[in-house]
Amino acid sequence: MEEFQVAIIGGGIVGACMFSELTRKGVSCVLLEAASDVSNGSTKANSGIVHAGYDPVPNTLKARFNIRGNQLYPAMCARLKIDILQCGTLVVTDEANREGLNILYERGLANGVQGMRIIERDELHTMEPNLADNIDIGLYAPTGAVISPYLTCIALCEEGVVNGGKVLLNFKVDKIEQQGDNYQIFAQDKSVSAKYVINCAGVGANAINALVNAPQVPLKYVKGEYLLLDKSQNGFVNRPIFPLPTKAGKGILALPTLHGNIMLGPTAIPCEANDTTVDAEGIAQIKQKVELSVKKPNYKKVIKLFAGVRVISGDDFVVEHLPNTHYFYTAGICSPGLTAAPAIAEYLVDEMIKDGLTTAPHTFVSRKPYISTEKLSKKELKELIKQNPAYGKIVCRCERITEGEILDALNSPLHPTDVDAIKRRVRPTMGRCQGGFCLPKVIKLIAKHYGIAEERVCLNGQGSEIVK
Ligand SMILES: Cc1cc2nc3c(=O)[nH]c(=O)nc-3n(C[C@H](O)[C@H](O)[C@H](O)COP(=O)(O)OP(=O)(O)OC[C@H]3O[C@@H](n4cnc5c(N)ncnc54)[C@H](O)[C@@H]3O)c2cc1C
Repeated sequence: MEEFQVAIIGGGIVGACMFSELTRKGVSCVLLEAASDVSNGSTKANSGIVHAGYDPVPNTLKARFNIRGNQLYPAMCARLKIDILQCGTLVVTDEANREGLNILYERGLANGVQGMRIIERDELHTMEPNLADNIDIGLYAPTGAVISPYLTCIALCEEGVVNGGKVLLNFKVDKIEQQGDNYQIFAQDKSVSAKYVINCAGVGANAINALVNAPQVPLKYVKGEYLLLDKSQNGFVNRPIFPLPTKAGKGILALPTLHGNIMLGPTAIPCEANDTTVDAEGIAQIKQKVELSVKKPNYKKVIKLFAGVRVISGDDFVVEHLPNTHYFYTAGICSPGLTAAPAIAEYLVDEMIKDGLTTAPHTFVSRKPYISTEKLSKKELKELIKQNPAYGKIVCRCERITEGEILDALNSPLHPTDVDAIKRRVRPTMGRCQGGFCLPKVIKLIAKHYGIAEERVCLNGQGSEIVK
């Protein structure tokens, strides 16, 4: 049985940040993920905003980890060689709600958010020409940013692997036994051993806690549905536009993605864990509410509907150490969990070191970023094609992704095996036709790479075969 110092359960953004933080400190570490790829839970379907930190109530874990996470993100993205759009964020409202905006501003000051200012109508409508006519004022927070949440998570895991960590996919933890000083962690017939266990299992947090007799955390699940607009709508808004938040949440927003699409959403609908369906009611709600902040978007350009599930525990995150054990757990990591994750990992690793976890001198290895041929100059592309003609063969016409880029993804450190895993790395099937043209080609490339029949290639995990 393979033995590690630390086993991380769950390959969402929290587990990925833990994995990167530990491996960079020379700790031997395994990340166990139930799905066929990391970033398959809440982390793949959210707004991708690195929140500035004016929203959480002061002196909560949410406020503390949001502010610190926001500070950590720019350097983390530079280290991972991934993009971050430092566009700031705007909360907008009308004159009648000026007091509400002031309260948010004061809360931001109390939390330590830097550089915020209240912006008046003329400047606001110049910054964002597609704001609704009734919008008079806005709270601008320049430290807000937009990232690709799934690519960030994947890059962190890849970094962990090139720095000596191990990722085991399709490893759904179903039993944990204490044996001597170590935990034996099982997934059906497979197992690993580790001195420390950290539960980052998102919706699965209570199921994992139950395996070690840790407390059950009261959790509720709230679905957030989105509409994604084609890249032709790029520029409709230049930064995330929030309505004034209410007790029910941050409201329906319009925002640019890192890749030039526009996203509208999310709704906030109580649901079962893992319910990522989108229905007509949700779509109607997005349309009605987004137009309170911005002019009517071009709904004919919607190319995709999707939803993510927030896992909520009361008013704050749960980040705990089970007393007199080497077991740590997170639960209820809802928004701003994506922002907070690097700070949660920084805190937890410190706590583990205080608990006796030993680190070792380590020479950091940088992860190799994915080539994006679209970003190369003609000269650079020509040179690349000369070295490897696969970069001259277009597979996905909408996103202009070449065979070379897809082969890079297939050869990357986590060895992605299904279509969505390739999509999250280098974007084929992400464009306007949503795979109508390139899906068969992507299936062929995966089948050839792994030497399997095309009928065995899955969309997203076992049982999702595409070809009959
Ligand atoms: C609609 C929506 C919008 C949001 N917008 C933002 C935003 O703009 N900014 C922001 O900061 N935050 C945002 N969030 C919050 C953010 O997405 C979450 O806080 C974050 O993704 C939680 O990460 P996680 O690692 O805790 O959980 P997850 O990403 O869910 O990861 C948990 C992982 O554990 C795995 N797992 C579960 N059980 C087991 C098991 N038994 N064995 C092995 N693995 C297991 C799962 O497969 C999963 O991959 C949003 C959330 C939603 C839903």
